[in-house]
Amino acid sequence: MKKTAGLVLAALLCGLSTLGAAPSGPKFGPAVHPTLSQLENRLLEWEKAYPRIMKLRRLGTTAQSRPLLAAVLTDPDAPADRKEHVLITALHCGGERSAATGIFYLMDWLLQGSPGAREILRGQVIAFMPVVNPDGYVAGSLRNSHHRDTYKEWNREGPLVPEQMPEALAAKSLMDELQAELHADYHGTGMQFRGYIMAENSGAAYSNISLKSYKHEIIRQMDQAALAEGYPSDELEQDAERIYWGPELEQLGPKLWSGRPLYYAATYGYEHYHTLAFANENAWERSSFLRHRRLLEIGQEIWPGEYYPGYPTRVILKNELHFVTAYGETAAARRRSRVELWNKQGQIVTALNNPQTEGMVLFVCSTTGKAARRWLSDQSLPRFAQRIGEHRSVDAGPIQRMLKDHPDADGQFKAHLLLLSGRADRSELPPEAESGPIENGLSLRLRIPYPKARISELRVNGHPAAVSSRDGYVSWVARGFTYVQFNIPPERSRKEDLFVVTCLYDPGEERVFGLGWQEQTP
Ligand SMILES: [Zn+2]
Repeated sequence: MKKTAGLVLAALLCGLSTLGAAPSGPKFGPAVHPTLSQLENRLLEWEKAYPRIMKLRRLGTTAQSRPLLAAVLTDPDAPADRKEHVLITALHCGGERSAATGIFYLMDWLLQGSPGAREILRGQVIAFMPVVNPDGYVAGSLRNSHHRDTYKEWNREGPLVPEQMPEALAAKSLMDELQAELHADYHGTGMQFRGYIMAENSGAAYSNISLKSYKHEIIRQMDQAALAEGYPSDELEQDAERIYWGPELEQLGPKLWSGRPLYYAATYGYEHYHTLAFANENAWERSSFLRHRRLLEIGQEIWPGEYYPGYPTRVILKNELHFVTAYGETAAARRRSRVELWNKQGQIVTALNNPQTEGMVLFVCSTTGKAARRWLSDQSLPRFAQRIGEHRSVDAGPIQRMLKDHPDADGQFKAHLLLLSGRADRSELPPEAESGPIENGLSLRLRIPYPKARISELRVNGHPAAVSSRDGYVSWVARGFTYVQFNIPPERSRKEDLFVVTCLYDPGEERVFGLGWQEQTP
């Protein structure tokens, strides 16, 4: 008893040592990263073990003659045109070796054949470049043997100094070939010692605010997947409580978030193919696996607001409620349409009736400069209704009847066509000669902000539209909106350059306007 009491007293006198911490502090182990040849051998072993679902490709060599390897995983028995395309890279690995170990963890899981992994390989083609910069991996450097940064030194044409950047050229060749829906780019630590950690995150880069994914909800779900096993995430500018930099805000100095809008490798995929890009930092391969398994699952699901499963990267233009989106019943058709429309968006103009009206929608889309100048240069709604009567293939009667009693917003503006997206200023539209037709179809997606809406009439150019995912409309409800998507097939988008869609609906509910505060119930 006496002895025990003495020990307790001694412990109390020593203060913190009662918590049981080792007095000597943490011990850091030796380097924990695999060697480059261990990684390369593993790829060769996998290629032998899984010849059907994994193909190894050699995309060039480095300045020090090391091969630039990519592995493409997919189930060859599943139809190719139904597959989403995904690129997974470690553009800073090189020196950020935990990026490679994270990617190998994910590849291993995909190859092991669990039901979830099999489903993803049936629905997706996933190209991996786990060590983009092998010379840098050996040297522990973010840069290659020419001292070039494969992640950061890019512009609209690709790598800044192509003759000194074979690694970045290899990554670019995959971006151009796949025209991927998704690009996930891993970053991390050099793993020079055991116990080297860092702040982890999803869908963002500390230096570059333009790498913040535009789907913030996916970032949240990736972070949540890691947190479910106890891996926490940094939320960058949200946790720093700072707003983004901009030219006019420069004077705010340290009150702004430190990241800047910059052109990095992933920006190239976004600019050319509307690829949805996710950069991330990862310290523990288990955590990065949990994040990216969730990310790949999203490619199998119907994203809220979408009609087909797959990554949500189909919106080309948005005009307040309504969209121009990629056309197609398969992933391949939507990809063709997306890439074409994304790069021709400058010649597309959309217009909607403003003030916006409960019970009816007018949404107009012109796909050539000629059509925009002819039909949308005068934005007065009554004059548009009158002018559209001169269009040879438009049945103007139903459009004119719908717009006959369209209200004005008195004191504010007259009823007009609101041009928001595309080049709203028609003087900026490309000359007529540059405006080729749309070759791969397009879809016009309306969002009606009433989930119980009952549609009574849908027309394209005054003619009734039929239910069809190929040539007609489809409708669904998500996120509180009733969606109506008009699908204009290629044979039609090649010949026509003006689409006037009209929609009449009953909201299906009565919402209070203006006097809600008098009628509220507790
Ligand atoms: Zn990095």
